[in-house]
Amino acid sequence: MVDLRCPHDPFPGECPDCAAKDARIAELEAELAVLRAESEKLWMAIGLASTIKGDMLIRVDDPIGMMQEVVAYVYAKDERMTDDEEREVE
Ligand SMILES: [Zn+2]
Repeated sequence: MVDLRCPHDPFPGECPDCAAKDARIAELEAELAVLRAESEKLWMAIGLASTIKGDMLIRVDDPIGMMQEVVAYVYAKDERMTDDEEREVE
């Protein structure tokens, strides 16, 4: 079992060191919540962009690679369409 008592002060809640640490922990937890929300938003954007390429697999460790794959796919598709248009003109 973890001992949560303050090692600095026998009176709970009266140690400035622990109060400062608690404040810092609260600050970091708030920052973490913001970053998690931001990350979730970015993953939603990646998921949305990935729908362009139907067979795209989600790789949580490689969002940039995923988007490179989507870009390559769109460019290749655009290239094919341009070829088709050129053939139609001929
Ligand atoms: Zn303390």
